[in-house]
Amino acid sequence: MRIAMIGAGYVGLVSGACFSEFGHLVACVDRDTDKIQALEQGKIPVYEPGLDAFAARNVRAGRLRFTSDLASAMSGVEIAMIAVGTPSRRESGEVDLSAVRAAAQDVAAAARGALLVVTKSTVPVGTCREVARILQAVRPDVPWDVASNPEFLREGSAVEDFLRPDRIICGVTSQRAERLLRELYRPLYLNQTPMLFTTPESAELIKYATNAFLATKIAFINEMADVCEAVGADVQVVARGMGMDGRIGPKFLHAGPGFGGSCLPKDIRALAAAGRASGAPARIVEAVIAANEERKRRMADKIAAAFGGALRGKTLGLLGITFKPNTDDLREAPSLEIIPLLQARGASIRAYDPKGMARASELLPGVAWCEDAYAVVRQADALVILTEWNEFRALHLDEIKALLKQPVVIDLRNIYDRERMAELGFRYTSVGRP
Ligand code: NAD
Repeated sequence: MRIAMIGAGYVGLVSGACFSEFGHLVACVDRDTDKIQALEQGKIPVYEPGLDAFAARNVRAGRLRFTSDLASAMSGVEIAMIAVGTPSRRESGEVDLSAVRAAAQDVAAAARGALLVVTKSTVPVGTCREVARILQAVRPDVPWDVASNPEFLREGSAVEDFLRPDRIICGVTSQRAERLLRELYRPLYLNQTPMLFTTPESAELIKYATNAFLATKIAFINEMADVCEAVGADVQVVARGMGMDGRIGPKFLHAGPGFGGSCLPKDIRALAAAGRASGAPARIVEAVIAANEERKRRMADKIAAAFGGALRGKTLGLLGITFKPNTDDLREAPSLEIIPLLQARGASIRAYDPKGMARASELLPGVAWCEDAYAVVRQADALVILTEWNEFRALHLDEIKALLKQPVVIDLRNIYDRERMAELGFRYTSVGRP
């Protein structure tokens, strides 16, 4: 099949590369000409493990190409997929659909014949049908089909997630759309990946409900971490015990500094906003949003508490800026709120992140960026672990201790053993552990 992928960001690039791996011919289109130029030179503009080699292989095989010229990308295509960004308006939480609408207009203008237009971006209920109205209004001459096919990949393991998804959700309004989507995903379907066909409305809501549920799990275990600290229990053991219950499962039960990233925060705000607008308030989701906001302030307090609440004149060495390991994505990373809170209390910040520093330096003024974990702690009063990159899991702790002014470690990801840290002479604080 021939596919045009509109939007070459995390989702568009990964999906485009993976569809080309299935044997389809994919043109990834983006308005950002710098991005397209870089891609044409073989440079992947985002950090996503495995994506560069994967894309290069399919480019060499002639199945994957990048262009900013939508008209050329539309030549002979049977499916156009919209994978553009859908940021939220910070105050109201509503989704900014302008990129989706613009993409639909552009696709309509460039269409050369019958076309299935699939929305892969995360969009509020009703958007798929709105896309259909735009297509029809711009080009009433074209026989249109539309579908909603939300994407569930996780940054950091996106290629693997795309190739081995738990399920594929398709919201369709015609048999032709269903047939084309079955053909598109045939390699996964043959591997027995479940495909759920439903209406666009249900498909759109499945994406939001999934992310809201995952966010709720994280907020819940963070709350349990606070309870653990108050009553002398260990949240890691509590989470393990809860996770052994097949109805709950062990994933997304890691206490920490709150969730961030390009999806969970904006998607739950969107769901809450949609609930308010439709007269079906999403009270649990609203509580999760508030709890996650509060979480970051609480973590700044926890760090300050290691110094009796007074951070003025202290230097903190921070490890990990991205919202999770294996990505360079900083969107809504807890670090972006926690670091300014620490600075406002008078702390100086030294920091290191394996992939996030290039972008972080613009977003976090006043931070001294360091070349590695050891440079971070040099002359610092404490080491603070914010993101659990693998390279932070086995630090040479003797060296860290020798470099620190005071042997203080605040581990917001619980990646070190409490007893071992005490044996080594650290004043060690973690999350939800006695
Ligand atoms: P992104 O910001 O990385 O990429 C979006 C791209 O679309 C940008 O390169 C932008 O230049 C391009 N674009 C915008 N308007 C365009 C237009 N009219 N024509 C062509 N290109 C255009 O975004 P992303 O992280 O890939 O997310 C895309 C969508 O997928 C969002 O709705 C997001 O919620 C959803 N999603 C993201 C993830 C994730 O982990 N990033 C996972 C699942 C779903």
